[in-house]
Amino acid sequence: MTDHTDCVFCAIIAGTIPATIIAQNDDILVIQDIAPKATIHYLILPKKHIKDVQSFGPRDCCIAGKMFKMAQQLSQEDPHAHEFRLLINSGYTVGQRVFHLHAHFLAGAIISEF
Ligand code: AMP
Repeated sequence: MTDHTDCVFCAIIAGTIPATIIAQNDDILVIQDIAPKATIHYLILPKKHIKDVQSFGPRDCCIAGKMFKMAQQLSQEDPHAHEFRLLINSGYTVGQRVFHLHAHFLAGAIISEF
């Protein structure tokens, strides 16, 4: 579905780099963040490689809805994640370091601020 050379999240999606998988469906993969900033810190990734929000094409718009729907599912499955924060860094200067679109899903106690 996706496989961009040098993209760590594509490698995780392809199964060539290990990650703790929290949930997935045909379009979305949810993994545990390797350096959590809250007691619950997941990354919601589209399986299709999209660099950032600025790179959304006309056929990618439903991806955002699917990411929201997955956030809702995660919150419904865990009472500790009933209320949560969704955060997207889109561009280097605002903190994006992995250039495969992802939403940080944060809940529970904050460990460190972004
Ligand atoms: P951002 O700075 O918004 O691009 O977020 C990138 C996030 O990816 C950071 O919170 C990292 O801790 C996380 N991350 C980087 N590499 C991995 C990995 N191999 N497995 C899980 N999370 C990762």
